[in-house]
Amino acid sequence: MERAWSTSDGTQELGTLFPGQLLSSDQSTAQFLLRHAVHQAREAVRKRSGGPFGAVIVRRLPAAIDESRQPLVEVVAVSHNRVLELQDPTAHAEMVATREAARHLQRRDLSDCELYTSCYPCPMCYCAVIWAKIPRFWYASESEDAAMAGFDDAKLHQHFRSSQGVVGLKEERVYLAEHQMPFKEYIEALRQGFTELY
Ligand SMILES: [Zn+2]
Repeated sequence: MERAWSTSDGTQELGTLFPGQLLSSDQSTAQFLLRHAVHQAREAVRKRSGGPFGAVIVRRLPAAIDESRQPLVEVVAVSHNRVLELQDPTAHAEMVATREAARHLQRRDLSDCELYTSCYPCPMCYCAVIWAKIPRFWYASESEDAAMAGFDDAKLHQHFRSSQGVVGLKEERVYLAEHQMPFKEYIEALRQGFTELY
């Protein structure tokens, strides 16, 4: 399967990612999909669509393998924060992606899917992932990175902390060299007069 890579600051072309696309799945897939989620986060800032957050959802296809006998995944949603664009306070990247994935698959149960998100989900998105039955998510930036840009949902996380882990949702962080770029570009956009903060 086709794959473009960059090892620098993430400015190199990543290639396209779209719903319905099939990808070979190996140990590098999580990093590849997270790099697309971070790219989406930067797109949100570039387009002034919303906060610097992006998400990708893929569906595992356990029975399907490529020519190298690697399992395949299907991309079912690629999105970024659209709060400003839609004037919808719930249009966080993970919410938009979850809706897109359900629409693409024509079902509300996403238990065979995984979420790749540019930043650790806020409590609203975390709950949406649970409602969608997505069993596992991967993320690039920590909530502390988002707080640096003014997105501080620490209090909300604190409120829900006691319930985390109970539902069995698996989460894993992957370090990416460019993971803070969306926040840096967002702060720069604020400096240039893009004054709305979400
Ligand atoms: Zn959220």
